[in-house]
Amino acid sequence: MPWVDKEKCTGCETCVEQCPVGAIFMTDSIAMIDMEKCIRCGVCHNICPQDAIRHDSEKVQENIDANVEKTKKSMGLCVKYLGNVEEKDKCLKRMLGHFRHEKEIAEKTIERLEKLKNV
Ligand code: SF4
Ligand code: SF4
Repeated sequence: MPWVDKEKCTGCETCVEQCPVGAIFMTDSIAMIDMEKCIRCGVCHNICPQDAIRHDSEKVQENIDANVEKTKKSMGLCVKYLGNVEEKDKCLKRMLGHFRHEKEIAEKTIERLEKLKNV
């Protein structure tokens, strides 16, 4: 999924003009992408003169770090609000369950999508 590197975007609006579904708009002279409208056509990646429209593969480590930080924060808050140190491990188990479900969903989705190649 595309995202805009705000440091690189110069606000030229080329992407706004060329996105086929009008998913890109300007805020404070920086391009923003409405992911609800985006159809993942990839056009914006190829036409940005600043190479400011980036791929989500570049955010993998950032997303992992954010998930770990979120989990640690939730563990601390479970102890704080539920008043019992055992809640820390229970919270961790729930978060592990959550990410395992996400992994299962992603793997099964990929399996289904791979089958679309021959349609
Ligand atoms: S084409 Fe690139 S530099 Fe121009 S507005 Fe879009 S993201 Fe910014
Ligand atoms: S990938 Fe295509 S639809 Fe999505 S923002 Fe870029 S140009 Fe628009």
